[in-house]
Amino acid sequence: MAVLDAGIAGCRACPRLVEWREGVARTKRAAFADWTYWGRPVPGFGAEDAKLLIIGLASQPESVAVDDGLELYGVRITAPVHCAPPENKPTPAERDACRPWLVEELTALRPGLRAIVVLGAFGWQATWPAPARAGWEVPRPRPAFGHGVRVGLDGVEVFGCFHVSRRNTFTGRLTPEMLRGVLRTAARAAGLK
Ligand code: SF4
Repeated sequence: MAVLDAGIAGCRACPRLVEWREGVARTKRAAFADWTYWGRPVPGFGAEDAKLLIIGLASQPESVAVDDGLELYGVRITAPVHCAPPENKPTPAERDACRPWLVEELTALRPGLRAIVVLGAFGWQATWPAPARAGWEVPRPRPAFGHGVRVGLDGVEVFGCFHVSRRNTFTGRLTPEMLRGVLRTAARAAGLK
């Protein structure tokens, strides 16, 4: 997993995203002018033998830096696209370019993995081809996204969850209780509770 994470952190496969992330790191937002920006892809984070995988750009208000002490137990968080794109919108080509990283991550986690939570419709669409490419038995037709949707995937339970974006959380489309509900069910499915 460390090799995979290092490979992701050094990835330059998407020219538009490389230019964007390095430009943002150079110019910086005024509020963070004295911060050192990462300016590179963000690899997955958490347990290397996770039973529960969360796929989606998960914003964590408590986590501000790589050495801030945040730890995940039995859980790993990753993203279908590892570089933050302009306006949070990766192109289909960028999504596809990043997929091999997810295939590798799923393959590495496969022995102990019991559940996956996918945040948002984009993540849902981006995720399904990865287990198919990793050789898992994927349901056909691909299940439609919805909050709380639960699908069996070759012995792993997959859950859909509205994305924790500001647009969803500020408007109440996704409430803390709705998020907790899916995470609780997924944690139970993963044998973590
Ligand atoms: Fe590499 Fe993924 Fe970033 Fe593209 S989005 S440069 S494939 S890490």
